[in-house]
Amino acid sequence: MTMRIAITGGGLGGLTLARILHLHGIDAVVYERDAHRAARSQGGMLDLHPETGQLALAEAGLTERFRSEARPEGAEHRVLDPTGRVLVHHTPEPGSFSGRPEIDRRVLRDLLLDSLPDETVAWGHRLTAATPRPGGGFTLTFHDGHRTECDLLVGADGARSVVRPLLTDVTSSHVFTLVEWNISDADHHHPALAELVGAGNLWCVGVNRLLAAQRLGDGNLRVGASLRTAADPDTYRDPGALREVFEGWDPRLTALIDAADGPPVPRGIEAVPTDTRWTNRPGVTLIGDAAHLMPPVGEGANQAMRDAAELARALVASPTDPDAAIRDYEAEMFARIRPVAEMSARVQAMMLSPTAAEDITRFFTVPVESGSNLTPPSPGCPETSGVRHTMPPCQWICSRVRRSVTSRRGWPGTSGCSAARRPSCPTTWRRCGSWRNTASSTSNTCRNTRATHS
Ligand SMILES: Cc1cc2nc3c(=O)[nH]c(=O)nc-3n(C[C@H](O)[C@H](O)[C@H](O)COP(=O)(O)OP(=O)(O)OC[C@H]3O[C@@H](n4cnc5c(N)ncnc54)[C@H](O)[C@@H]3O)c2cc1C
Repeated sequence: MTMRIAITGGGLGGLTLARILHLHGIDAVVYERDAHRAARSQGGMLDLHPETGQLALAEAGLTERFRSEARPEGAEHRVLDPTGRVLVHHTPEPGSFSGRPEIDRRVLRDLLLDSLPDETVAWGHRLTAATPRPGGGFTLTFHDGHRTECDLLVGADGARSVVRPLLTDVTSSHVFTLVEWNISDADHHHPALAELVGAGNLWCVGVNRLLAAQRLGDGNLRVGASLRTAADPDTYRDPGALREVFEGWDPRLTALIDAADGPPVPRGIEAVPTDTRWTNRPGVTLIGDAAHLMPPVGEGANQAMRDAAELARALVASPTDPDAAIRDYEAEMFARIRPVAEMSARVQAMMLSPTAAEDITRFFTVPVESGSNLTPPSPGCPETSGVRHTMPPCQWICSRVRRSVTSRRGWPGTSGCSAARRPSCPTTWRRCGSWRNTASSTSNTCRNTRATHS
């Protein structure tokens, strides 16, 4: 009898898994709570990393389509202080796909959806319970009472996964408050803001607060305020409350608040502990945020897609023994994720710290080993002591963690920090567009990054 695979959640992780399985002739059904693909906004843009998101798209046979939709110019970024002073400005190599091209989340999700047979995604199916069956597998119950059965259940249902409690009783905790809004057609309606943000990302960094904006492919701006606050997030549904938070900032920056299309939408951003793992249980596993919800510093979606590729690969390799496949996948995933989650937590803490502007500027501009007073703000990897990270903020994960290596299966991928094995090797800076690999030099600098010092 054919194994019935149910994937709960049609986000980037679940759809990538369904696509790769489909390519290998393995059917799965994706149960998604949204009523249809355009039911809600998919948010801003993502940069896809070669060793995770791009690798998964290659496994899905979608690299060409990705390249036709991605926006390499979106890798431009600017860091400003609250007075509007430019601290860092990076412009990518024109048209280069060698690094981490940006793509709108909606476009990426559509790309995956278009690659699947229509019947793969069961829209309007919000899972409310998964109950083990005596003979193995699960009975799935949806919000409308409808039920179905499966032999293998993959929880890809995001931050508040309904499947997660089958494997672990871990709970997520609050990290910061994010308040988001849109500014439509900025080129025509708000040309000064379009110019301020540029082709990619803008980060305005204050004390315990950050005002960020990114330009989407359709010309809209997606704006977000990240706040380290204990206040009820609903407080910030009032734009006046938001203006108070950024009182005293240069009006050219707070104009981003005034130009909002509508009321801001606040929410609490959460994370599960960085050492989250579980004892293997036959017939069920998790991928993406359901498995390892972490602060959003540019890794979550990439890792979700890599999870999907790893799980698909394991299932294809062991078609008659899905439980062995799950064990293989989970062992690889736990080892890969922990250092990434730890670094994400550190970077997030740094971004909303009282000294964030200084730390971020140093991150970009200070040469390696240039002084003991420049202790790295993210000292998790022993190999980074005295080393400056000069990467875009969304790419601040320690290069030792995401270093491209050949894994046990011959994939280029991340293998975790290798400091113990290669204590002094400075050659692992990412091979990314304009980011230089400075093996023989004492500075890791981006040739397209300019820094302005007071
Ligand atoms: C502000 C912000 C910015 C980010 N920026 C980046 C970035 O630049 N780069 C990056 O790599 N990551 C980024 N992330 C993280 C990234 O968004 C997530 O890690 C990623 O979306 C996880 O993918 P997923 O498929 O696991 O879950 P999701 O994308 O959350 O998808 C889960 C899906 O499951 C569905 N679902 C939920 N519950 C149920 C249910 N009960 N039944 C059925 N369906 C259900 C949802 O509707 C959704 O479609 C960011 C996150 C935030 C909040």
